[in-house]
This record gives sequence, structure tokens and C-alpha cells, in this order.
Amino acid sequence: MSAVDTSTTEAASKAEAITSLYEQFVVPTYGRFPLCIERGEGSRLWDVDGRRYLDFGGGIAVTSLGHSHPELADTLATQAQKLWHCSNLYYTEDQGKLAEKIVSHVAPGKVFFNNSGAEANEALIKLARKAGNAEGRFEIITATNSFHGRTMAGIAATGQDKVKEGFSPMLPGFSHVPFNDLEAMAGAVTPATIAILIEGVQGEGGINPATSEYLLGLRKLCDEKGLLLLMDGVQCGFFRTGNFQSFQSILSGQGDQSFLPDGISMAKSLGGGFPMGCTWISEKYQDLLGPGTHGTTFGGTPLACAVALKIFEIIERDDVAANAAKVGQHLIDGLLSLQSKYPQLIKTVRGMGMMIGTQLQADIPLLKDSGRPASIAMVLKLHEAGLITIPSGPATVRFLPALNLTMGEADEGLSIFENTLKTLLS
Ligand SMILES: *Cc1c(COP(=O)(O)O)cnc(C)c1O
Repeated sequence: MSAVDTSTTEAASKAEAITSLYEQFVVPTYGRFPLCIERGEGSRLWDVDGRRYLDFGGGIAVTSLGHSHPELADTLATQAQKLWHCSNLYYTEDQGKLAEKIVSHVAPGKVFFNNSGAEANEALIKLARKAGNAEGRFEIITATNSFHGRTMAGIAATGQDKVKEGFSPMLPGFSHVPFNDLEAMAGAVTPATIAILIEGVQGEGGINPATSEYLLGLRKLCDEKGLLLLMDGVQCGFFRTGNFQSFQSILSGQGDQSFLPDGISMAKSLGGGFPMGCTWISEKYQDLLGPGTHGTTFGGTPLACAVALKIFEIIERDDVAANAAKVGQHLIDGLLSLQSKYPQLIKTVRGMGMMIGTQLQADIPLLKDSGRPASIAMVLKLHEAGLITIPSGPATVRFLPALNLTMGEADEGLSIFENTLKTLLS
């Protein structure tokens, strides 16, 4: 991080003024870290004190090409001068082109555009309800420790009690079974079941990838029982694992390219920081949500579609997916060697591509002393050292960097991580 200039006191009071506005006027749904971010460039962020950080959080897997990418900024500005908004009562060229682009990366089908991950999942849930409606089937089975968003359907679908607390009654028709457990899933199917919804790699649950046997087994189960297989790709999708969708990465060594879910939700990295989500629906179900069944004012807005199309163009042109796979594996290898060097500090390293979780040991005295969960105490220490990461659960620290992170930046982050680990050796 760079030296702080003479305006330190002024800057400190600026940070205080900003946090004070939040305390007075912003609903406190987030436990925020004491960082006031002012600007970003690539994988760097600067706070209001002028301190520089290396960003391995990526806005929680959002800034797919880093901050303030010049080509994206140009695209947004040019589109802003042409057309910002157009109702979905009409056609715009980029929405059609973007849908075509998404379909070309998955399989034949159609795309519904929305504005967030929760909404992308809402569309999957409504699709499943509509598909089962005539037969009175409506139940959706999801996994323990999953995360599917904060709307009422999203928290009902999420397999974590803490997101449901205080909001009952829940939307009925959801049950949860342990992840990567085919038998548990098969045992939970009832005559009322219509769909299974899983993340290919659980994100909020601590970076847990599905196994290839699990994915193939779920497809078989769904085919046997007439269920839709729905995948939440909000965090693990959009090239994060080195392929467009995580199942393509998980199954790449299997020689079986026929696996396909019936629906996929996307958001986070899709707009690179411009808010947007989408729901891909397979050919079989692509026309089920007909006129009047679903909608959203801002879905597929000209600004969002122009930006997302540009992101696809850059990713394809610069082979950013291969970079995510390569640099991601380099990060994983680096963390694994830190684990063997400091087994008393690191319990496990899990991940694929640019979606990596480092689970810390439970009883590190210097983290315990902080009185906070180890994940949060570690993230705070990393902030002090100039690296931004994301906590996950009580003990896991996540790396979700930009997909175009360089090898040099990866090494710099690993060295900050190691130096911070060293301060924990007591
Ligand atoms: C972030 C996330 C969501 C919710 O997305 P929002 O844009 O915050 O509504 C849903 N599912 C998964 C897997 C996520 O990581």
C-alpha cells in the first residue's frame, strides 16, 4: 500500500463522516468492514485515505474484468448517450444478441433477463412451479449450506437456518438435504417434487464443488422421476471455474459432454459490476414462461446488455477463461504449499479456478483473541496488510478475484497472505 500523505487527518475524518452517514441513514443489514473505498483500477482499490489494496474479493465474484475497465467504461458511456432504458414491451438489438451469446456458451434454449442473483433464482423457481402445476407438483429440493438469495423464495430455497430466522412463515415447498449425497437426494423425492436446485460449487457455504458423480447421478435421478435439474450459477458461473459454467469444468475430464441442467441462474460476474442477472432455460422448457407469466421492468436494459456483450467479447478475444483456470490453479497450488508449510494454521484449501476457499484451523490463539470468528479476524488482518478477501462461514477466507488477474498479482497476494499467516504463529 502507498504512503499516506499529509492530509491523513483530513482523510481520516472523511472516513468517519462517511461511516457516520451509514450509521444514521443506511439500514444496518450488513456487518461492514471499516473500509471506505473511493476508486478502483484493474485489481486495485484505493480507500479515502489513499491506501492501496490488492482486490481478491472482486465485489464478491462480481468485477469479472476488474475495476473501471477502460473498454467497459467506454461501452457504458457510449450506450448512455444512445439509449439508457427501453421497456420490455419493445425490442432492442443487444438483448437479443446477448441471449444468443449466452445460449451459444451453454446449449439450445432461451434466456430471461433480470437484475440480480435472487431474481435469476426466482425465475428458476417459478419455472419449476409452472412445470409442475398441472400435476400438482411443486416441491423443490436444495442442498444444506446452499445459498440462493435474500428474497422470500430465495431464503426458503437456501439451506441455512440463519437466513430464515425471523421471517416465517416460509414459502412452502422446499426441503434441504446434504450436498454431494445422492442417496439423501433420492430419498427426499416425494410425489410432489418437481425440481432439484443446486450450486455447482457452493459459494457462501464455503467453496464446496459438486463431484462429477453427483452431477451425473442427479441428472439420472431427475430423468427417472421427471424432475427439472436447476443450477444456481450466480457465483460459480460465468467463466469463474475456467469454463462458462461450473458443471463444464467439473465434468471436463469425464468424456461425457451430454450433461445439461434444465435451467441455470446467473448474475454477479455477468455484468462485471453493472447490475444484471439472467436465467437460461433449456429447449424443453424454454417457452413455458409465456406472455404475462413473469417480468421485470429493468431486465435486459440497454446499458446492462451493452456492457455484458462487451465483457463476452473481451473474454473470448483475450482468452480470459484460460487465464482464470491457469492463475486460479496457481493460487490454489500456492495456498496448498502454504498449508503444508503451516499445517497448524491452514486446515484445507478448496476450489476451482478463481473461486477458492482457505479454511483456517479452529484454534489459532491470535485469531481467537479477537473475539470474532477466525474468518473475519483474518480478513481484517489482511486488510491491514493491503489484501481484500471475503469471509465465508466461521473459518474460511475466500479468494474471488477478477478473472483477468495476472500471475504477478496472484504472487503478490500469496505473499501478503503468507506474511499475514506468519504473524499468527505464536
Ligand atoms: C450472491 C448469490 C445469490 C444472490 O445474488 P444477489 O444478486 O445478491 O441477489 C444467489 N445465489 C448464489 C449462489 C450467490 O452466490
